[in-house]
Amino acid sequence: MAEQGYKKLYGQYQMRQLIVLLVIISGLIPVQAMDRELVNTSRSPHVRMRNVDMDAVRWTEGFWADKFELCRRAMLPSVQQGLLDPLNSEHLINFKITAGLEKAPRNSVDWSDGDCYKWLESVALVYQVTRDPKLDQLMDEWIDIIAKAQAPDGYIATQIGNNTANRLKMPHRHELYCMGHLLTAACIHHRVTGKDSFLGIARKTGDFLYEQFQPRPPRLVHFPWNPSAYMGLIELYRTTRDRRYLELAGILIDNRGSSPGGGDHRNGGTDQTQDRVPFRNETQAVGHAVCATYLYCGAADLVAETGENTLLEALRRIWLNVTTRKMYITGAVGVGGGVSASGDPLHEAFLADYELPSRSAYCETCSNIGNAMWNWRMLALTGNAKYADVMERVLYNSMLSAVSADGRKFFYCNPLKWTGEQTGPHKHHTATRWSVHSCYCCPPQVARTIAGLSGWAYSVSKEELWVHLYGGSTLTTQLPDGTEVSLEQETMYPWDGHITIIFRNTPEKPVSLKLRIPGWSEEATLKINGRDSQSAPRPGSYATLRRKWSAGDKIELELPLEVRLIEAHPDVVELRSSVAVMRGPIVYCLELPEQQNGQNIWNEGIFLPENIRFKSRFDKSRLGGITVLTGRALNAGGKQRFGREKQASISSRNADWTNQLYRRFESRSINGSEIGNIDIELIPYFAWANRGVSWMEVWIPLVR
Ligand SMILES: [Zn+2]
Repeated sequence: MAEQGYKKLYGQYQMRQLIVLLVIISGLIPVQAMDRELVNTSRSPHVRMRNVDMDAVRWTEGFWADKFELCRRAMLPSVQQGLLDPLNSEHLINFKITAGLEKAPRNSVDWSDGDCYKWLESVALVYQVTRDPKLDQLMDEWIDIIAKAQAPDGYIATQIGNNTANRLKMPHRHELYCMGHLLTAACIHHRVTGKDSFLGIARKTGDFLYEQFQPRPPRLVHFPWNPSAYMGLIELYRTTRDRRYLELAGILIDNRGSSPGGGDHRNGGTDQTQDRVPFRNETQAVGHAVCATYLYCGAADLVAETGENTLLEALRRIWLNVTTRKMYITGAVGVGGGVSASGDPLHEAFLADYELPSRSAYCETCSNIGNAMWNWRMLALTGNAKYADVMERVLYNSMLSAVSADGRKFFYCNPLKWTGEQTGPHKHHTATRWSVHSCYCCPPQVARTIAGLSGWAYSVSKEELWVHLYGGSTLTTQLPDGTEVSLEQETMYPWDGHITIIFRNTPEKPVSLKLRIPGWSEEATLKINGRDSQSAPRPGSYATLRRKWSAGDKIELELPLEVRLIEAHPDVVELRSSVAVMRGPIVYCLELPEQQNGQNIWNEGIFLPENIRFKSRFDKSRLGGITVLTGRALNAGGKQRFGREKQASISSRNADWTNQLYRRFESRSINGSEIGNIDIELIPYFAWANRGVSWMEVWIPLVR
């Protein structure tokens, strides 16, 4: 008995010691430092809200759950196959060649490594959910090869190889683009697996870059050209807490525009790579759209750590320029080639204000997603719902358009109009999606975004829980003070606007649930436990519901999904006589496949009468499950009979266009029944080009 009593007492003593120890430890390490976020803002001092751990959220049903599954099942293997296909432009085998494990000529674009790292990042993100040991093994195998391809001093770029004399000579050789993606992918791999193998490679690379760039040598001032390294370095800092990486990201942003001019844009110093104007002085979006959006992402990450207001103000100015003058209705950015106001040649670039052609729209998948990534970061910095609106606009439209319904083929360009050709006007414009391409940067970009998207859905801040993306999901997380909270979200959004959130585990004290009310949602309603919420949710804001919640509390948000006609700012001359059609966040298009007599119908012309009434119908069997819109339109003959004024300019300068590029088109009330003479069907823009060559348009001529 005495011995048992002793053990019991000793056990209690041990337990008390353990508790004391835990209290001490928890005092040293902030409890909010969960550190397994997709973009790890858990200890960023200057964010309005923090991301949640990747494993805190799981898609359960509906749209994004389906897309994640498509990514796991089809996109990931397809991208892997693509990177192993000799016909492709990006090749995993380069790592073996540089490591001396394979003898073959290297035959890839310069940015190949970076896109391979993006694929590895996608694998890690899918593994994060499935814990499929085969994926873990796959990553280990390639990480082992990458380690062997890395030089002892940390440099790695297979396009340059092992000859140190060739390093960092020409900015457009994409060395820092590739190494930047390595840093990001390695951080994700570490957070997901807990392993240090890839992170060790990244630290060596980060150290190499620090050694080269920290002394600010003038000969390197035009690097990194494509600036994925800003995000990569800051994520590496967040993972290791080694401040040198943060310092280096700051230096690289200082470099931007610090030594303008110099002739060939491929070597930097021009508007093509946002290198003519010091970033802090910039007032508009210029140059290559992927470089631009990555730069903005990196600058936003830096603001999250430093709080530098000058940088944030530059980002705000550029954002206003993009969203009111240079962004497609699909959220896509990057128009094509031209010349900047300073006379610099541009390609794959932002062009002049309101220059947004539909047919030749470049809209590279990578830059569209870059735009979403930037807006997600601006949202975290500010809590302003306008950024979430842009983010969602990209995700449902110009990101998803990049991938086929079967998840195996991809688009590089995402134009808003297509007229039956096989290709053109640029070589990256193709009639249908492909599985290998002459520039394969986009497929792994879509894969990693869809694979990690659950990490974008929710955020936390002091006594606040934010919901940004609607999709069937569970959330189990902690608020910054360490209190546990969990909930379930049920919805078939974006096809249905009914969203239910049920708390499962709630803190003892009051918490604000902040639900995003999209800018387009004018009649949203909220119920708490079946009773109407007192305040009407305001479009383009977060509805804040503050109370002490109990497990089982049920919140119902209704976002009415009526079909809207949208007009563009009258200065977008090409669109003056046309409208786009949206339902919720989804941009629709008219698509006329060749196999269905598309060309003849197109030639006959299709016009929307301004009083057209669309009916919506969800069709589970179509193109992965979509809601289609049907209505009565006019062909040329019908238009002549109807049009008193014939096709007319609709975008009125008298309307309020303050800070708006697109706005809801208000039809005049027209008495009588519908006047259309042909049936049309619109499908979501993202689902076009799944039925062979077609004629397609987002902006449809309107008759009034
Ligand atoms: Zn791309």
